[in-house]
Amino acid sequence: MTKTSFDLPPLSTPSATAAPIHLLDLGAQHAPIQSEIEAALQQVLSQAAFIQGPAVAEFAQELGAYLDNAHVIPCGNGTDALQLALMSLRLPAGAEVIVPAFTYVATMEAVAILGLRPVCAEVLPDTFCLDPAAVAAAITPRTGAIIAVHLFGQCADLTALTELARQHHLALIEDNAQAIGATWQPAQGAAVFAGTVGEVGTTSFFPSKNLGALGDGGALFTRDAARATYLRQLANHGQTRKYYHEHVGLNSRLDTLQAAVLRVKLRHLPTWTAARQHAAAFYDKMLGGVPGLQVPVRDSRSTHVFHQYTVTVAAGQRDALQEFLRERGIPSVVYYPVPTHLQPAYQYLGYQPEQFPVAEALCRTVLSLPIHPTLSPAQQHYIVEAVKEFLGAKVE
Ligand SMILES: *Cc1c(COP(=O)(O)O)cnc(C)c1O
Repeated sequence: MTKTSFDLPPLSTPSATAAPIHLLDLGAQHAPIQSEIEAALQQVLSQAAFIQGPAVAEFAQELGAYLDNAHVIPCGNGTDALQLALMSLRLPAGAEVIVPAFTYVATMEAVAILGLRPVCAEVLPDTFCLDPAAVAAAITPRTGAIIAVHLFGQCADLTALTELARQHHLALIEDNAQAIGATWQPAQGAAVFAGTVGEVGTTSFFPSKNLGALGDGGALFTRDAARATYLRQLANHGQTRKYYHEHVGLNSRLDTLQAAVLRVKLRHLPTWTAARQHAAAFYDKMLGGVPGLQVPVRDSRSTHVFHQYTVTVAAGQRDALQEFLRERGIPSVVYYPVPTHLQPAYQYLGYQPEQFPVAEALCRTVLSLPIHPTLSPAQQHYIVEAVKEFLGAKVE
C-alpha cells in the first residue's frame, strides 16, 4: 500500500467510517439549506396555488436577472424545453435539424418526435462539443436549425456556430441542460451567458443538474420578447387567454413547489459552481499529465461549470479503471456509452458504425469522476490516488 501524507483508508478496503464517496450528494448539498427549502415549500402549501403559483413567475424573473436579463420561460422538463424550442421555429415537416453525435438522447429525441429529421454531426475530440466544420458539411437546403449542446458544463464554439447559423439563415438552439451559468467570450464585446446566445436556449432542472429541483423541471431562454410570449403560450396549451387556443401546444409547466425550491437553490448556485470549479482545478492539478489519461480540455473562450468532470482514458483501459475504482468505493459513470447515431431507436436514419469516429471513440474512452459541491479534498485525494495507482503513475 502506498504511504500518503493524508489520513486515508487503505486503497483496497474503503473504511466504513470514512464518508462514502457519492457521484452526487444531494443530501449533503441540501442539509445546510434544509430550513430555507422547508419554508419555501410551506409557503406554497399555505398559498395552495400549485399550478402557476407566484413562485413560478418569481423564479423566472430571478433566473432571468441572473442570466443578464434574458427572458425565462419555465416548463415541465429539459426535454419539453427542447421540443418547445423547436415548435417555436415552425419548421416544415421533414426539415433537418443538426444535433451532435455525442450527447444525451433528449437532444435528438425532441427533433424526431416532431416529425423533423435529426442529422448527426461529429464532435471535437477535446471539448466533446459540436465540430463547426462538421456542422458546415452537414448543412443542406433542408436544414432548419442547429442544436448545440454545451456538454458537461462548457460551451460549444458559439462564435463559429452563430456565424454558420447567420450565413445559412438557420436557427441556433442551445441545449444548456448541463452548463447553466457558464459564459462565452465572443470575438468582440462582453462575455455572454450560455443559453442566451441562440434564438432559444433550453435547460433542465432534473435533480442532478447544477441547478436541480426536487423532481422534474425545465426552462427556455430567449432575448426576443415576442418569442418569449409565443413560447409561454406553447407551454400552456397554446392558449393566448384562458380557453382560447391559437396554437397547438403542450401542457408543460414548472410545478409551483419546484419553482419555490429552485428560487432558494438559485441563490446558492454561484457558490456551488465555484466549489465545482475548485474541485475541477484540484483534479486538473493532480491528474494533468498522468500518462494514459487526459483531463478535460478547457476552451479559453468559455468558462466551465463542471456539470461533469470527464476524463478520457486510453481505449481498452476505461472499463477496467471504472471497475478498479468501483472496488475501492469510488463511483464513476460513462456519459455516454452509445453515440446518438447508433441508438437503436434511430436506426431509421440509416447511420452506420464508424461514421462519426470521434464520437464513437469518446463512447469507449470517457469516464466521469465524482464532482459535486460537497466533495471533500480528502475524498478527491483518495480518488486521485486510486486513478494513479491503476495507471501505474507515481502516487505523491
Ligand atoms: C438532462 C438533459 C436533457 C433533458 O432534461 P430532462 O429535464 O431530463 O428532460 C437534455 N439535454 C441534455 C444535454 C441533458 O443533459
